[in-house]
Amino acid sequence: VTALHMRKALGRFASGVTIVTTAECEDEDSVHGMTANAFTSVSLDPPLVLVSIANRAKMNDRIAETGKYGVSILAGDQEPVSLHFAGAAQQPDLVRFVWRRGVPLLEGALVHLACTVVASYPAGDHTLHVGRVEQLSYDDGHPLVFYTGSFRSLELLGRDEPWG
Ligand code: FAD
Ligand code: NAD
Repeated sequence: VTALHMRKALGRFASGVTIVTTAECEDEDSVHGMTANAFTSVSLDPPLVLVSIANRAKMNDRIAETGKYGVSILAGDQEPVSLHFAGAAQQPDLVRFVWRRGVPLLEGALVHLACTVVASYPAGDHTLHVGRVEQLSYDDGHPLVFYTGSFRSLELLGRDEPWG
């Protein structure tokens, strides 16, 4: 199994897009963020999620240092924010943070999760950071979708709104 085949195959698993964020203290200068789609819900009781972060990403060391992270699930109009935090086209004017439990989160996102790291597992060239959700909020709206390496909007199959 080659890396290219892995990307071709797994790119056919449609996902949402998140920005993972962390900060040493409640100060904009200490914030670090990155785009991630390797995010999943893990447990309801206790409330756990995980993010899979490349070992070579700066974010990996930052989460190890702070012991906490935020997950902002992006809305359909936030593709530029996603590109920004993936190191592509920079759009600093679109980046605004709100703070929850000492964690920065992206303004305009559909969902905010503020998490404390409860375990970090090495997994090949990534590390899985399991976080306990300490606080959350969510909004109605359409998500940004990543599929076969491209950003999409969600096409509704029925009459129901996605949050209905
Ligand atoms: P950098 O590359 O240095 O930073 C990332 C970007 O964020 C830079 O452009 C920087 O300007 C900006 N930034 C950081 N902090 C701030 C701040 N405080 N204010 C304003 N801008 C800031 N990688 C994974 O490991 N796991 C994944 O699940 C994953 N999913 C991805 C999904 C998609 C759709 C895409 C496009 C990429 C994904 N990546 C994923 C790749 C990852 O987003 C990039 O490799 C990213 O550049 C790694 O970030 P870094 O921590 O090394 O920091
Ligand atoms: P792509 O075609 O590389 O991504 C398709 C799928 O392949 C992704 O959704 C993911 O499931 C998987 N994938 C891609 N790169 C991976 C990696 N380094 N480690 C583990 N799984 C990976 O999409 P693209 O538009 O070419 O991606 C843009 C950049 O973002 C690339 O550098 C890519 O490596 C990176 N990316 C990384 C991850 C990740 O680390 N989990 C996920 C998505 C994209």
